[in-house]
Amino acid sequence: MRHLRALGKYFWKYRVRLGAGILFVVLSNYFNVLSPQLMRFIINYVDNALSLTHSRVTGTDDGYDFLVKKVIGWIGVQSNVGRVVIIASLIILLLALLRSFFMFLMRQTIIVMSRHIEYDQKNEVYAKYQSLDNLFFKRHAIGDLMNRIAEDVSRVRIFTGPAIMYIVNLVSVIALSVFFMLQSSKELTFYVLIPLPVLAIIIYFVNSTIHKKSERIQEALSDLTTNAQESYSGIRVIKSFVQERSMLDFFQVNTERYRKNAVSLAKTEAIYFPAINLLIGISTLCTIMIGGLYYINHEHNISLGTIVEFIVYVNMLTFPVSAIGLTASMVQRAAASQKRLNEFLDIEPEVKDSTSAKDAVIEGIVDFNNVTFTYPDTGITALRNFNLHIKKGEKIAITGRTGSGKSTIAQLLLRMYNVEAGNIELDKTPLANLQLSSLRQQISYVPQDVFLFSDTVENNIRFGIPNAKKEAVVEAARIAGVDKEIEGFANGYDTLIGERGVTLSGGQKQRISIARALIKDPGLIIFDDCLSAVDAKTEKEIMGRLNEYLADKTAIIITHRVFSLLNFDRIIVLEEGHIVEEGTHEQLMQIPDGFYARLYARQQGHTGHQ
Ligand code: ADP
Ligand code: MG
Repeated sequence: MRHLRALGKYFWKYRVRLGAGILFVVLSNYFNVLSPQLMRFIINYVDNALSLTHSRVTGTDDGYDFLVKKVIGWIGVQSNVGRVVIIASLIILLLALLRSFFMFLMRQTIIVMSRHIEYDQKNEVYAKYQSLDNLFFKRHAIGDLMNRIAEDVSRVRIFTGPAIMYIVNLVSVIALSVFFMLQSSKELTFYVLIPLPVLAIIIYFVNSTIHKKSERIQEALSDLTTNAQESYSGIRVIKSFVQERSMLDFFQVNTERYRKNAVSLAKTEAIYFPAINLLIGISTLCTIMIGGLYYINHEHNISLGTIVEFIVYVNMLTFPVSAIGLTASMVQRAAASQKRLNEFLDIEPEVKDSTSAKDAVIEGIVDFNNVTFTYPDTGITALRNFNLHIKKGEKIAITGRTGSGKSTIAQLLLRMYNVEAGNIELDKTPLANLQLSSLRQQISYVPQDVFLFSDTVENNIRFGIPNAKKEAVVEAARIAGVDKEIEGFANGYDTLIGERGVTLSGGQKQRISIARALIKDPGLIIFDDCLSAVDAKTEKEIMGRLNEYLADKTAIIITHRVFSLLNFDRIIVLEEGHIVEEGTHEQLMQIPDGFYARLYARQQGHTGHQ
């Protein structure tokens, strides 16, 4: 329950709606409890009229609500029995209408409020996700993140809407009807309410079983979804390895588990409503039997009307009381979900703007001073006492074995992580003193693993600059050497890519992703092995065009191919997180048995055979 306190700010935000909603619930129940009183009046009145000859006790007129007394006073002026019955019945109808009207308003306020809260909360969680750093996303599975924004938020919604409504409803129905029952007859109230504690105990036990079982169902369902999702996205692998059968078997094991749980839940639930009905039935029976005995024996002023009145009260309590279990589990689930949401909402990103961070134009002077960096989640030290100084406008190539720390350099320059020791400066300002958004906006980065959105080619390219003109998009595509291919698509730049669009080759994806970086036209550009899926000839062309584009920019190009490196100011070879060779192509070729010289010779020979 304590976790739900986090919702306080939303309730405060929508306090007018909430307050009005509670008032409407109470009003609707108030009009509801008036009708049994009128029924008592009609029945007693008729009974009285019919038994005038042998006058007997037909109950007092005590215990009526103030409004009912008014109505009775007004009706009493009429003397015709038939008329009184008709008018009183019409008033009962009017009460029902009033009750429904306020019920309508209560849904309009409370349920509508819960939808507003749901909207706000979804946005709050999404915004939090966006503010968190890489480490967070490394530590949590995507499915988990998705669940929280979808499943958990809607469970909380069930609390802020229906559950609150049921709770207010339950409290006001019980309070109002018990109040008027006591006004009418204390003795009868006592007998009628005896089964209630038993009911509450049964509801409590059955409900906690139901709750446990539905949690298990939820888990099974979640496994089932993950299972299905994975087999759809991996369908090509499944088919080519002819594993359809075994995937199906695996799926069946999961559905079987789901079925077992669901059946067992249905069986428990089957007890629930009949048990409640039985106990309500017993209450009704008590009313009729004990009330009847009192009536026959002229005890406690019980009239026929009182008995009818009590039967209606008991029935009025049926729904709210039977919803106790449901409401309790709604609250439990919402509390568990809100707990999970709070866990995320309370996380502070490690990488964030300091108060003094400034927004500066980046020229492209890069300094790594004795940088050591260990990935916090794996404990792998990717860079060790790493030093690299790049002048403005310099073109640097970085090469080296897989895992030597090349991509880490790019990650750290974008400040996806904070360094552990040493420091990184950009234009002689420590990275930590630059605004994150400003820093990242001014660096064009093409990541090693391409990611394109399910959107048009054009929108994918202008992703970083949403208002970029079409000409700028085309120009970026031209430099990246992908313009001809895009124009060849049926819908040109409007072609959809991704799941429901065209399937692109690895090389095409890489070049669109390059175009997306180029359109930003920044002072510093980092390419992380982003031409690996492009053939050597295309790479050469792109590099030719890029040279012009890069003229006044600082560029860091990470690559495994060496031919295209010939024009670089400096080539760096990394090994286990530090520089092992550094210099121009000619200088590196001089190093006997050097990594670069061997790589060059190997690739030279390789193309020689082609
Ligand atoms: P390269 O780009 O040269 O192949 P990386 O910089 O990607 O090398 O990786 C350097 C080392 O850091 C590798 O041992 C790799 O396993 C590890 N590493 C890379 N990225 C991560 C990460 N996000 N979390 C944990 N370890 C990582
Ligand atoms: Mg890499």
